[in-house]
Amino acid sequence: MNSDLHIHTTASDGTMSPSQVVAEARFRGLQVISIADHDTTDGLEEALEAGRRQGVTVIPGVEISAADSREEVHILGYYVDFRAPGFQGFLKEPRLARSKRIPEMCERLAQMGIQVSPEEVFAEAGGIESVGRPHLAKVMLKKGYVSSMDEAFERFLADGAPGHVKRFKNTVDATLEILHAHQGISVLAHPGLLKDLDMIPYLVGKGVMGIEVYCHDHDQAMVDRLLSIAEKANLLVTGGSDYHGNMLEKSFKLGDLKVPSTCYEALERAVRKIREGSGLSRGD
Ligand code: AMP
Ligand code: FE
Ligand code: FE
Ligand code: ZN
Repeated sequence: MNSDLHIHTTASDGTMSPSQVVAEARFRGLQVISIADHDTTDGLEEALEAGRRQGVTVIPGVEISAADSREEVHILGYYVDFRAPGFQGFLKEPRLARSKRIPEMCERLAQMGIQVSPEEVFAEAGGIESVGRPHLAKVMLKKGYVSSMDEAFERFLADGAPGHVKRFKNTVDATLEILHAHQGISVLAHPGLLKDLDMIPYLVGKGVMGIEVYCHDHDQAMVDRLLSIAEKANLLVTGGSDYHGNMLEKSFKLGDLKVPSTCYEALERAVRKIREGSGLSRGD
């Protein structure tokens, strides 16, 4: 069973539409994928429908940016009851905050002689609400202000860089609470990118259910380290490529990352248990 449990689409900062992702996944021999866009589930209905048509299992997911006094983290939510109004309400404010900060960032860039209008950024993002820094970086690249996306981040957009503006995020506690209240499985995304791996036991204390072990950001030593942490803390182990199409300068294709099928199997077992416990029958 070939799987990839962390993929972005045009609903956030990916460059392929949900149906294009499903088609590409099928072409590349993946049987199971999860769409996990930043702070939005807007791509899920299309992906689920395309998955049904093309014989690819699509796990509904989301990747929520969550604030904490220690450091910001990205929490993946699998199988969450994403259609529930309460869950959608939770995602609304951070998404609006994403749109709101674009003019503020453009203003800062203008002070540094970089003329990028909010309209250009929103157009680059295709009018979605879950607009992100990559869309801004892309416009800067197209207009020749930087020679790579990485340069845009390093010089201007990365956290703390002169063009960066913070946006509202829900807290880790609130994120875990809403995911668990909606039958979601919470998984810490790309823990190898954390400033401090001690965040993992700290988040386990808060109830996080799993960690993403297999991903392109982790070398073998990191994978081994995370596997041992997961085993000791009895955590779910997942894996995903964090595919963004050609948005970022990472040169891998869907299916390049090898994710053991035990990851998907364990997720399935966990969700079955949650649904039995809550008396819900299996939906999609
Ligand atoms: P945002 O969602 O607006 O906070 O932008 C963060 C997104 O930018 C991440 O999810 C990545 O897709 C992308 N990204 C690419 N390079 C960087 C970088 N150096 N620092 C932060 N984000 C990056
Ligand atoms: Fe992203
Ligand atoms: Fe992430
Ligand atoms: Zn991601």
